[in-house]
Amino acid sequence: MIITFYGVRGSTPAPGPLTVKYGGNTSCVHIELETGHDLILDAGTGIRSLGHKPAKKSTPASILLSHGHWDHIQGYPFFDPIYQPDRDIHVYISVQSGRKLLSTLFSQMDGTHFPVRAEDLPSNHFPKFKGIESELYEREGIQVVKQPLNHPGGGVAYRINENGASCAYVTDNELEPPKKLTTRYDQWVNYLHGVDVLIHDAQYTEDDMPHKHGWGHSLISQVRQLATDAEVGTLVMFHHDPERSDSELDEIQIENEKYLKSKHAPTRSVCAAEGMRISLDKPVLGGATRIGID
Ligand SMILES: [Zn+2]
Ligand SMILES: [Zn+2]
Repeated sequence: MIITFYGVRGSTPAPGPLTVKYGGNTSCVHIELETGHDLILDAGTGIRSLGHKPAKKSTPASILLSHGHWDHIQGYPFFDPIYQPDRDIHVYISVQSGRKLLSTLFSQMDGTHFPVRAEDLPSNHFPKFKGIESELYEREGIQVVKQPLNHPGGGVAYRINENGASCAYVTDNELEPPKKLTTRYDQWVNYLHGVDVLIHDAQYTEDDMPHKHGWGHSLISQVRQLATDAEVGTLVMFHHDPERSDSELDEIQIENEKYLKSKHAPTRSVCAAEGMRISLDKPVLGGATRIGID
């Protein structure tokens, strides 16, 4: 399994001199499975540069959407494969969000907000609303498990298991929301237990609270605690606040390393950056997954 990051920012794109190192595009992660299949997690502005790659293939492009907030869908009109005649695009959407989310994805291409209308696209769209575990790659040793997010409007996390290697994508998620709690902390610990790579929303610092409490994002300090409690292999801090500069993320990285060292945790932590590539290699004879980061 190879994970590549194309967009790591939350809320809105944040290009500029202060975000050159980690990048300014919004959420989009590509996973290349050992079977050769591709999974695309979310369609933020990062999907534009990713789109050049699958455009060279003829197999269906599979997109798993976490939810319909614009930082997760606004790159879709710029995704090359949707302009390929008869190219099959499979869009996986949680049952909870259903058709409303699908219409959100396409309503941005209505001729007013974007010149090309969704109904004029030459590609074939296949919305999938349920049972993604069985509909995708179960027969080839791949399992995708969902978990509802704590986020205004709802959404889902995905855990992808392939031949003993695993990656979880959990954005946008507030671990301790003030009101409606969809998934409890102990349920997150169970769901994520032992995952090799955890990509988790880590948008806020203590300074952002309490003003943003209830906006659906987690504190960095809560996320590293979760990674420790769930005995995660590598924690990838994701969905950076648009105001967070490269130097601030460098400081967060150092702080996380200190924290994990003080807990004697085997977990390591990195801040997601555009272009970062993580490879997961499960030894044939068993043992821990080898995780490489470029
Ligand atoms: Zn978001
Ligand atoms: Zn959101």
